[in-house]
Amino acid sequence: MHYNMAQLLKEPTGSTRDYEVDDSFEGPEGGMDRAQGWVRVIRTHQGLLVRTELETQVNLTCGRCVSQFDSHSTLKMEEESFPSVDPATGRTTDPPEEAEGVVLLDAQHDLDMTEVIRQYVLTEVPIKPLCCEECLGLCPECGTNLNKKKCKCNTASADPRWDALAELLTERRQ
Ligand SMILES: [Zn+2]
Ligand SMILES: [Zn+2]
Repeated sequence: MHYNMAQLLKEPTGSTRDYEVDDSFEGPEGGMDRAQGWVRVIRTHQGLLVRTELETQVNLTCGRCVSQFDSHSTLKMEEESFPSVDPATGRTTDPPEEAEGVVLLDAQHDLDMTEVIRQYVLTEVPIKPLCCEECLGLCPECGTNLNKKKCKCNTASADPRWDALAELLTERRQ
């Protein structure tokens, strides 16, 4: 999904463009994930303000039971973007100091929304995604997915308090 901003950059501050988003993109695990929603681009004094609200569907692998699942979430973001080339003069411009986001315009003023969405989704994905809060994980002895069936191993931990601590640390990291 590429939108060309050359025309909007020539318009006065406050001019807007609205786009509908229904896009597939390569997700964090290499599958084709989806995003649907809208994006609004507003001409600002120095550049463009990109606002978007998307429902995303991202395929992830559970950190406990290693099964794949679809994670649904709402992604909202707002970020200012600055042209790398002045649309009036065609000269290369230096972006302001504070510009360090993921919304970048190339020399043709092309806004690559797919790349923006991909970057944002990457930052949203937890270090250890879970298919569900109650996921029982895999049996450490035989590898059975304990969400699906029980196994006959004796896997009672030597000290269950360590399990609780491990859980707590995992949650903190997310
Ligand atoms: Zn799981
Ligand atoms: Zn087992």
